[in-house]
Amino acid sequence: MRAMTLDAPGRPLKLARLAMPEPAAEDVLVQVLACGVCRTDLHILDGDLPVHTQGIVPGHEVVGRVVTLGSAVTRFRVGDRVGIPWLGGTCGHCAYCAAQHENLCDTPVFTGYDRNGGFAEYALADARFCFALPDAYDDVHAAPLLCAGLIGYRAYRLSGVSRGMRLGLYGFGAAAHIICQVAVAQGQEVYAFVQPGDQQSAEFALKLGACWAGPSDARAPTGLDAALIFAPVGALVPAALGATRKGGVVVCAGIHMSDIPSFPYGLLWGERCIRSVANLTRDDGDRFFSLIAQHPVTTHVEPFALERANEAIAALRAGAIDGAAVLVP
Ligand SMILES: [Zn+2]
Ligand SMILES: [Zn+2]
Repeated sequence: MRAMTLDAPGRPLKLARLAMPEPAAEDVLVQVLACGVCRTDLHILDGDLPVHTQGIVPGHEVVGRVVTLGSAVTRFRVGDRVGIPWLGGTCGHCAYCAAQHENLCDTPVFTGYDRNGGFAEYALADARFCFALPDAYDDVHAAPLLCAGLIGYRAYRLSGVSRGMRLGLYGFGAAAHIICQVAVAQGQEVYAFVQPGDQQSAEFALKLGACWAGPSDARAPTGLDAALIFAPVGALVPAALGATRKGGVVVCAGIHMSDIPSFPYGLLWGERCIRSVANLTRDDGDRFFSLIAQHPVTTHVEPFALERANEAIAALRAGAIDGAAVLVP
């Protein structure tokens, strides 16, 4: 099968021919129909995250059609369409797994990082960590739901959602464009903070229902109840705290961020909180997919052929994509 592999951080992905993988008992083998490109892939490619598996096939927003079942799989049948997310496996017995915090498992398996992901014609996944996908979303439009959507949703949940809240989104890329629509559908006021000068993203946010959009160094027109930071920029943390009312929450949603500059304690005072979001749980996925089956969102995607993965990555890096880049084998 054809796959894009990463020989070493800092290098472009390479088109390779790999042997067809064989499913273990709990695995499904899927034919990849579409796979989104996530900012976490950039952090893996750039070496911001330590190498876990040499020659890895990245990609953890995988939409696939089941072609072979492992001997123990009962959840899916051959021909089913499934989604494969970043959380590809957990130990099931550490303190975190036992306490319903499987996203924090001590020995997790991540798709496209520990085991090969979806930048390929075929991929294996542990069926227990796959999702059935709502029919309303075609393959290409469903792909970004599997990380941008899920992580955005977990960040949104952890912000302490209450109806009519004033929610700031910092960095208006793949995750923000999905969660903006969910939040607006649930009656929230969304304030979108974009990179200074990026008028295109500001207009995109307004089109998706944000009530205000402006540069991240601008003053918000009102105090925020919560802020979600999707851009990997540590300087946004004090900026978001400064825009947040007493008791508000600032959620850092990325897996990697530049250092947070020091800031006066007054920004945190007043019971403001800063927290991060790590990975997802299967419960997040079940809730998210049932929510967006009820309140459909429109994902904006730019498809690229599998062989053009490096172009898709460069476009994402340059901020040249409104929504999400998706590879189609
Ligand atoms: Zn565990
Ligand atoms: Zn991701």
